[in-house]
Amino acid sequence: MQGAEISSKLKGQRSKSYRNQPLSAFDFRLSALIQRRRSGFFSGIMSVLALFFCCFMYACSQAPVTGRSQLILVSPEQERALGLNAYENILKKERVSQDQVLNKMLQKVGWRIANVAQRPDFDWEFKLIENDRVANAFCLPGGKVFVYTGILKYTEDKTGLATVIGHEVAHAMARHGAERMSLTLLAQLGETAMQVALRTQSANAMRVFDSAYGLVANVGVMLPYSRTQEYEADHIGLILMAKAGYDPRGALGFWERLSKEKSAPSPPSFLSTHPTDYDRIAKIKDLLPEASEYYDIIDN
Ligand SMILES: [Zn+2]
Repeated sequence: MQGAEISSKLKGQRSKSYRNQPLSAFDFRLSALIQRRRSGFFSGIMSVLALFFCCFMYACSQAPVTGRSQLILVSPEQERALGLNAYENILKKERVSQDQVLNKMLQKVGWRIANVAQRPDFDWEFKLIENDRVANAFCLPGGKVFVYTGILKYTEDKTGLATVIGHEVAHAMARHGAERMSLTLLAQLGETAMQVALRTQSANAMRVFDSAYGLVANVGVMLPYSRTQEYEADHIGLILMAKAGYDPRGALGFWERLSKEKSAPSPPSFLSTHPTDYDRIAKIKDLLPEASEYYDIIDN
């Protein structure tokens, strides 16, 4: 029963049966409870309104290409600082491949994608991590791209690699990790506490960052990208690879090869953050005419 209903019922009862009787201790307790509920209700409303105001003030981000409005409470500077921290940690833990042929291919494909991404604020680097057991890749905020050697058997060639790098760079350009991180921290901490956690780079903020960017995918803790973010990254990624001179029609091969591994005894870790299904491949087919226009006008 709502406070207002209790109050009117109480008034009605009092007007009939207790009109001339003094208020009992029970009445006082009930009346105090109603007051408390009212003030709790109003302060709750005020907090929600304040939160929405903050969200509105910060959430003026728009994803590239699709123009989708995003709720992002992490500033680009905070995001880049966390990204740089993660980059240094990964380099301490992982072994960078010295394979000249594979590195040459990664640098070539990576820089062609970077050159069309038009992000002069990104400090691009492309690192190949020597680990055939991990089939994964990601791009940290600020443009640090990691590709594990384990994913190369699915990419097969430069076009396949451009599909992966284009897609991961698209996630970074559209700030999908920051979007996931914002929602998680908001749910956990509230907006003010979140700003403090981010400023001080608290252990919790770092954990959420790692899980938002899939950096802990191999130990099974991560925030999956939403379906909307995945389709958006596919969309932006296809256009990036096409502008960089890689035929976007070749992306289908990579996603189809990956989808076949769904029921394998040890499916590639890329699948845990990028589930493939019929809808995804169908949507990529729908996007191909638009992306191919960028490719077909280039003199390849
Ligand atoms: Zn993705």
